[in-house]
Amino acid sequence: MELEDIEYAVYQQARKLAVALTLHAEASGNWGVSGSDFGRQSMARWLCHIPADVACHLGNSYLSKLREAAQDHALPWTPHYLGETADPAIIASLEETISSFLFQIGDKEFSLQQGEELDLFLSEKGSNLIIIAGYHGTERNLILGRGIRDYKAPYIHIAMASEYLRSPSIVMPIVAMIGVHSIIIRELAVETIFHDKWVAVANTLPSLSHAEKLGYAIKKKTLAAYGVSRLSAQSIAQIYSDFLSDMQCLLTAHEVGHGIIQHDHLKENTAILAESSQLLGDTILISLLELLADIAPESSYGKGPILEIVSFATKTPERAERCFGLYLSDAYFYDTQTPHMMGYSHLILPVMAHLRPLQNGHPTWLSEAVAQTRLQQIADWALDWVIRLIDVLGRYFELEIADVAATDPFTRYSQKGSLLYDTLTHHIQKNPTLIDEATTYLNKQAPLVYRSLYDILGYPDIDEHHPTAGVIKTVGPLFL
Ligand SMILES: [Zn+2]
Repeated sequence: MELEDIEYAVYQQARKLAVALTLHAEASGNWGVSGSDFGRQSMARWLCHIPADVACHLGNSYLSKLREAAQDHALPWTPHYLGETADPAIIASLEETISSFLFQIGDKEFSLQQGEELDLFLSEKGSNLIIIAGYHGTERNLILGRGIRDYKAPYIHIAMASEYLRSPSIVMPIVAMIGVHSIIIRELAVETIFHDKWVAVANTLPSLSHAEKLGYAIKKKTLAAYGVSRLSAQSIAQIYSDFLSDMQCLLTAHEVGHGIIQHDHLKENTAILAESSQLLGDTILISLLELLADIAPESSYGKGPILEIVSFATKTPERAERCFGLYLSDAYFYDTQTPHMMGYSHLILPVMAHLRPLQNGHPTWLSEAVAQTRLQQIADWALDWVIRLIDVLGRYFELEIADVAATDPFTRYSQKGSLLYDTLTHHIQKNPTLIDEATTYLNKQAPLVYRSLYDILGYPDIDEHHPTAGVIKTVGPLFL
């Protein structure tokens, strides 16, 4: 097969799968963890070709494009979409199409789980067409686009420059992902966020709440660090290339941070169970894992973003300033409608503030050596909590947390991961009250986690039961 024919075959088949996944989400009302608003917007951006710098308003054209796409691929269409009751037979038929889906390229076949193999096949053929396909928890993920693969063991770093299509689980706020062997940065998502969040600062009206005021102050000071003094859409738009390179660096470091924690600092089964705990929704455990990715200590294959920023502080202070504001703004969820991310804000924001104590009223960096020592202490503390919580969780689900020896840590991680994941799913399906018990347990632990962190950092005044106000008071002086 010629390269052109291979690429066309992958495109056509991936498109059918993406359309089937969208129809299934519409018909069943099940849009996965990110929900219908984000899911539908992402699909509308794809089907209606809405560029990144244009806001997405769902109009009638989305449904008519989806209907055309369903017809193109001979998939069942029902007028009963968008929250109305769809025919169960249609949902079942779409589910069958999806679960039995196979990419057929010449004499080769790849299932959805074999996304990384299919991408390797494309790469070996010399193609810059990139496919991301596979399961993440219960989500079925798919992205097809063009970009660059950079082999930096143990990961293939993928810069996805443009996207042809994606599944409803790939919402616009997902800017980066980590697979077993790859780290993916979505430039389209970075660009969309740049316009939705940063260029939009030019049109922000004065707000009243403390949370919104600080959110705005962080953005304004960060833009100033990029050299934007007059807040007009035009002047903000000019910083895009610096913004993109900083985001690529920080996002990659965050995903590498997840890898460092999973492979170098947690026992294999603990790491897998921690990842699988996403089945319980967003809990303190997930917040701790996000914090750990941020503060991941240096390893042979990189370091987490916070250490990266700390190292800029000595070498390129202006870049440290930009990245600190950028990262802090992205971790600041107090002025957003995403309550499930607040737990992460309660953890990372005080840690970042701790690295920049005020001297004569001015935020000043801790020295790199001191910052490294402090971050190591915090990472040890967080690892301790993760291990303790996972141990209890394992007992809830009657799983044995024993270490298993094998030769290649990355392969055994993926195989063992799906095995443990299946076991966990099985346990949950068998006894749904377990999920409530485990979640209740984790929720009760959250204030204890916050308290012990604030004590380590020396912030006795932050109330562990309602941390928002205290965290705002701690972070505020760095930006106001
Ligand atoms: Zn993460």
